[in-house]
Amino acid sequence: MTRSPDDVLAELAAMRATDPPTHGGRILAYVYDSGRADLDRLAEQAATAFLPVNGLDPTTFRSVATLESSLVGRARDLFHGDDDVVGSVTSGGTESCLLAVKAARELWRAADPARSHARAAIVLPTTAHPAFHKAAQYLDLDVVAVPVSVESGRAEAAALLAALDELGERAALVVVSAPSYPFGVIDPVTEVAAGASARGVACHVDACVGGWVLPWWGELDAWDFAVPGVTSISADLHKYGYAPKGASVVLHRGRERHAAQYFATTAWPGYPVVNPTVLGSRAAGAMAAAWAIGEALGDSGYAELVARTRSAADTLRTAADAIPGLRVVGSPTGPLLALADDGGVDPFRLVDALRRHGWLAQSQPAMTQPDGTVLPRTAHLTLTAVSDSIAADLAASLVQAADEVRGVPAADPDPGLVARVLTEGLPDELAGVMSTLEALPGEVVRPALVQVLQAAIDPARSNQTRTRPPE
Ligand SMILES: *Cc1c(COP(=O)(O)O)cnc(C)c1O
Repeated sequence: MTRSPDDVLAELAAMRATDPPTHGGRILAYVYDSGRADLDRLAEQAATAFLPVNGLDPTTFRSVATLESSLVGRARDLFHGDDDVVGSVTSGGTESCLLAVKAARELWRAADPARSHARAAIVLPTTAHPAFHKAAQYLDLDVVAVPVSVESGRAEAAALLAALDELGERAALVVVSAPSYPFGVIDPVTEVAAGASARGVACHVDACVGGWVLPWWGELDAWDFAVPGVTSISADLHKYGYAPKGASVVLHRGRERHAAQYFATTAWPGYPVVNPTVLGSRAAGAMAAAWAIGEALGDSGYAELVARTRSAADTLRTAADAIPGLRVVGSPTGPLLALADDGGVDPFRLVDALRRHGWLAQSQPAMTQPDGTVLPRTAHLTLTAVSDSIAADLAASLVQAADEVRGVPAADPDPGLVARVLTEGLPDELAGVMSTLEALPGEVVRPALVQVLQAAIDPARSNQTRTRPPE
């Protein structure tokens, strides 16, 4: 052996040491920590047991078919689907959303021979996840983004339905979120689904982030298959299902809709190909871990984790509301909060200050909606079950960080910054970078972002463009 396993593993450990801590609630985005080491251990063992398996062919690997059917059945029950609801386990939320869009497009085309090469459109609120824009780009659909209320951050049913009417025949799908990622607010699912159904249009509820939280959150308006007119739902196991990355479900009302998600071909001299999802060879490790965690937790286990998550969210929301110069956007339902400037606390400065205190919050730039109204720049916090154990600390840091930046003017955009980031890497303070991204037109920002991220993995470039972990 050229290098000993110990040597190689030590180098991997050194790489991981350059990451921010994935456990303990210090990162307020990207990672979801149950706070239970026993669940992490179970997930590891379950995933390890399935590492060699290929989910590409569930007739060969019966174990994968068993797991997938069990996870789909569990999700179906959780989201009030009857026997007519079926679906698939995917590699993540983006894939689940993409497949919901694909199914909608195929059924839209199949409804009328004249549509076989026509371009369909999807209608979504501006707060919908970019996975739908990505799906539209990949699948060649038009997107009509509809403004949400600037005050509540919530989609407005009448506006979404008016957009469907304007599109007429071309509308294949309308999307709502439960809740949306930027503001954590649940859209008016019942009104939109009813209106879509009356117009013969499919309605997808994106519960990627909410799927494994809302069922235990408490009294809520119906948002799932209990609502007539909801035709598909996406829900990520690798978020509040506490599975490792690589597991989500997409559910459809009706086997025909699910079948429209598949790809099958015999047009090659190899084995007959049937792919339910985007991938060919399919890892089953995350699926096995998701299944194991679900079995171990059961309904009461999730209820307990959600109770902790809710307690953390309540603590932070109360704390943030009491901070002068800061406000929580809208009325979030669930564990995501967006904090906006309410007279003196710039969210980008706040995120930098929080980083100095050892917390990684996420900067969300302001967005001008198609009607000219502006959604504010915000600091995003994703809270999880582990957050409850550190909620008081985080609230105290939030108060201190706000005190430190109150009255400090927002950073000015700096058009020269993009070139500097490319040569020198990202600065420690990101407020200037975020202000610049916010101010520059999308046609300029998008390629620049691609270049920066390309450079980060380009073997020919030594500089590391990444944000610093908290001290
Ligand atoms: C996370 C998320 C997605 C996309 O999921 P990935 O797993 O990151 O691909 C889609 N919609 C919402 C609301 C999300 O929060």
